[in-house]
Amino acid sequence: MSERFSATLRIGDLNDYIAPSQGCVIKTENAGKSRMAPKAAQTEPVKISLKDCLACSGCITSAETVMLEKQSLDEFLLNLNKGKSIIFSLSPQSRASLAVHFGLSPLQVFKKLTTLLKSLGVRAIFDTSSSRDLTLIESCNEFIARYRESNSASEEKSKSDLPMISSACPGWICYAEKTLGSYILPHISSVKSPQQTIGAAIKNHICQELCIRPEDIYHVTVMPCYDKKLEAARDDFMFQSDSDAERITEVDSVLTTGEVLDLIKMKSIDFTTLEDSPVDKLLSNVDEEGNLYGVRGSSGGYADTLFRYASKMLFRKEIDGPLEYKTVRNADFRELTLEVDGKIVLRFALCYGFRNLRNIVTKIKSGKCEYHFLEIMACPSGCLNGGGQIKPNPGQSAKDLIQSLEATYSENVLVGDPFENPGIKRLYNDWLGQPGSEKAKRHLHTEYHPVVKSISSQLQNW
Ligand code: SF4
Repeated sequence: MSERFSATLRIGDLNDYIAPSQGCVIKTENAGKSRMAPKAAQTEPVKISLKDCLACSGCITSAETVMLEKQSLDEFLLNLNKGKSIIFSLSPQSRASLAVHFGLSPLQVFKKLTTLLKSLGVRAIFDTSSSRDLTLIESCNEFIARYRESNSASEEKSKSDLPMISSACPGWICYAEKTLGSYILPHISSVKSPQQTIGAAIKNHICQELCIRPEDIYHVTVMPCYDKKLEAARDDFMFQSDSDAERITEVDSVLTTGEVLDLIKMKSIDFTTLEDSPVDKLLSNVDEEGNLYGVRGSSGGYADTLFRYASKMLFRKEIDGPLEYKTVRNADFRELTLEVDGKIVLRFALCYGFRNLRNIVTKIKSGKCEYHFLEIMACPSGCLNGGGQIKPNPGQSAKDLIQSLEATYSENVLVGDPFENPGIKRLYNDWLGQPGSEKAKRHLHTEYHPVVKSISSQLQNW
């Protein structure tokens, strides 16, 4: 039996396999090569059997591995010259990782990647900072509704309204659905992540502006973690074409930052001296003067943006400048509070890494959580530290790398209010109507599903 269940991993890669969702990639001996696997270290392979399972419910099965093979550098290269219009959406965390690696600024990376990808036939390269603003506006709207509802609803109902929990991290969503289920899912914001909102915008609206059928677009995102591949493959993020003939996915393929670095190396180019190209402004946070802009916060700025908005809308308190976070347990668990007339009326927290999030979900379960909003991210230090980011250089510690990434992430990036983003205003005017409208709910919101694991389904997975 242990023979059948055995898997081949290399000890040197174990950290990559368990971070960030704390799941592990189990590659059965007769399964195809896992695309989740980073380049193998030159170490001896070891056998792992069922008894080594951490029972963390985060396993990637061989069936999921096959599905994930659609989301790889090889698959992207195969899709070049197949007659589809290829559109890229680049995350700001990946941009920062490439910037640190090459000693460039995030804007230079954006311009040089535009040159490289367009030389391969890519039609447009967008920026998920823009769809993050869309996500944040919808999240602000949802939070205000939940806060008001919780103050007027019955005790039982109000318990499921707050705290509202951010939904942009698929590592966290996967853990919540597989392990926590019904008591936690109603707390998770229904708003899709920036990866999926940019996919929804491109395949439902921008395609019309570009006069391309959604089924003729191959949409690739560049993300800091492997979990984003699982997110893109969810059934919830697919819809039928107008002719009903095809299932259209909002995101066809997700490349990690490391895979984009592999692409650069494969092309044998000196990326640092590559010519700059003008960036595509249609769905990018680049202003008229050519500056990047966006919210504060390298993991999406959810707590920051919602706190400012709720203070203004619920308590008429406008907050300018950086917010004062108080460290609760460690640097990955910090809180924000707003006091009115000596009473705390808003209590928000950033909660990163599994150690912290396990503590907070225990409090929610026991009804002892006092927070109104939680920005939960599975990776310690947040998205800049995602498992798909470029690894530290030899001699560089992980801590030093994170510090460089944090500094570079916001280098020359102007702080911008999502509600003032002209590109997003245009999306509401031309397509969605108001935040929280029926159309916004249809395209930008989703649902979560508890995963009930039967013994037989677990055995099938094995
Ligand atoms: S914290 Fe960010 S990088 Fe890490 S799993 Fe979540 S979304 Fe991915």
